[in-house]
Amino acid sequence: MLWSGWGDPAKAAALPAPIRGLLRDMLGVRAPETPAASFGEVRLPVAALSPLVLSELRGIVGADHVRADDDARIRHTRGKSTPDLMRMRAGDGSDAPDAVVLPGSHAEVLELLRACAAHRVAVVPFGGGTSVVGGLVAARQGFAGVVALDLARLNRLVSVDAESMVVEIEPGLRAPQAERLLAEHGLTLGHFPQSFEYATLGGFAAARSSGQASAGYGRFDDMVVGLTVATPRGTLDLGRAPKSAAGPDLRQVILGSEGAFGVITSLRLRVRRAPAERIYEGWRFASFAAGSAALRRLAQDGPLPTVLRLSDETETMIGLARPGEIGGPVADAGCLVIAGFEGSSEVAALRERAATVLAGLGGVPLGPGPGESWAHGRYSAPYLRDSLLAEGATVETLETAGFWSNLPRLYDAVRLSLHASLGSPLVMCHVSHVYGTGASLYFTVVTAQSADPLAQWEGAKRSVNEAIVAAGGTISHHHGVGRDHREAYAAEIGDLGVEILRGVKGRLDPEGILNPGVLIA
Ligand SMILES: Cc1cc2nc3c(=O)[nH]c(=O)nc-3n(C[C@H](O)[C@H](O)[C@H](O)COP(=O)(O)OP(=O)(O)OC[C@H]3O[C@@H](n4cnc5c(N)ncnc54)[C@H](O)[C@@H]3O)c2cc1C
Repeated sequence: MLWSGWGDPAKAAALPAPIRGLLRDMLGVRAPETPAASFGEVRLPVAALSPLVLSELRGIVGADHVRADDDARIRHTRGKSTPDLMRMRAGDGSDAPDAVVLPGSHAEVLELLRACAAHRVAVVPFGGGTSVVGGLVAARQGFAGVVALDLARLNRLVSVDAESMVVEIEPGLRAPQAERLLAEHGLTLGHFPQSFEYATLGGFAAARSSGQASAGYGRFDDMVVGLTVATPRGTLDLGRAPKSAAGPDLRQVILGSEGAFGVITSLRLRVRRAPAERIYEGWRFASFAAGSAALRRLAQDGPLPTVLRLSDETETMIGLARPGEIGGPVADAGCLVIAGFEGSSEVAALRERAATVLAGLGGVPLGPGPGESWAHGRYSAPYLRDSLLAEGATVETLETAGFWSNLPRLYDAVRLSLHASLGSPLVMCHVSHVYGTGASLYFTVVTAQSADPLAQWEGAKRSVNEAIVAAGGTISHHHGVGRDHREAYAAEIGDLGVEILRGVKGRLDPEGILNPGVLIA
């Protein structure tokens, strides 16, 4: 993973000429005056951990699994939001952990947490490092140091219960490795977020992730039937049946807790049979409203495709909905819907029934071209962000969700807020997760960088968070809370809600060492 950007540097994507022209002419983007810092220029804080603490940590996991070198510290600094990348490109390594610790078992995690609590060392659980909400930045104040607890060594498929279609799997497995191991048993999770190449299963559970095929396979939190969690107070082992009426479901307290309540060391997940057939195709609708109505019909009355996405007019025109095919803007493109069907023999019939519904609601079939193009380029868009930043454009994404009846208001509120803060940015939106009762809205914003692009974006982000809360949306459908959404989350759940969470944290983590400052203040 590129330390100051996204993904495999070999896959870096140059901006096509029409897009560069568009940035210059439409948004006034100019090349930044200061070049990005090199790896060697990153400024790190002096490592704070005492030799005594380091030696204790080494005693628990072995000397090879405690790293305090610059390379490890830089690669575990923050996540992959645009502000995170801007700070790294400016050589700001001030949030680097003092050391990176790689435990090899649940017992080692427990021991590490006890040692860190005793020495008041903050602990940041680290999966794939793809958080985009500031979930990997611990508050240092009041602590003797910060360690990143990298779960990469907890990477086994522990067991497969083919009868129940449940697997036990460790949290440090990255999604592609997990899919490879499951494929050997003819199984899949069906969880394909855009961060698929790097994110881990523990991170998916801790941040309540949702993948591009969520209509068919569900959100990641829907897949979790059980969890084992290490806390400074001991072990929580949750989930012994598919559903239960035995009181409140404590699994839900851990899902979305972003490392603030405990470290997930094992997951029991519902799996599906790997699909034998896949069909992806495109549809055109005259407007976002018409497309939304069609998605709602499918979500409420069926048949529901496995993948169902709708781009608004701007996103369709710019072509970011098909990152492999960016060839410049296309006027009057309407709104693109991608419908994907995965499964076995029933797929063709399902597709036929969905096609009848879409056509009946004004959709024009575009055939498999746009669908296959989307499937082929589905992980490429994040690579463009690095090129855009280098070009002098800020590009960032944000997301929310709401009930169908409130979706137009939410859509307008976000766009208005971004325009008020940023002048005339390019704001694109798509719906990619649908439910009977509502859907998510996912926005991509591109704007010319000001003299202080970080402050420019942070101001816009504060305003848009407030706009989302005021318009009745949730502050996150799938990115989580981290530090960046903490205030808006508090506004969403109210003072009593925050008190409940503080109570849980106080019980599980009395010294407050777990990801301090993330989720709740
Ligand atoms: C380019 C890009 C595209 C993205 N696309 C999507 C998308 O399509 N859908 C989506 O849902 N998200 C997406 N994300 C966001 C991100 O990938 C998800 O939030 C993902 O769940 C994070 O997984 P991770 O393994 O990288 O976790 P990390 O970033 O390492 O950690 C995320 C949070 O969980 C905590 N944590 C990690 N592992 C554990 C554990 N084992 N126990 C307890 N706490 C833990 C961390 O402390 C942190 O607070 C995207 C991010 C990027 C950069």
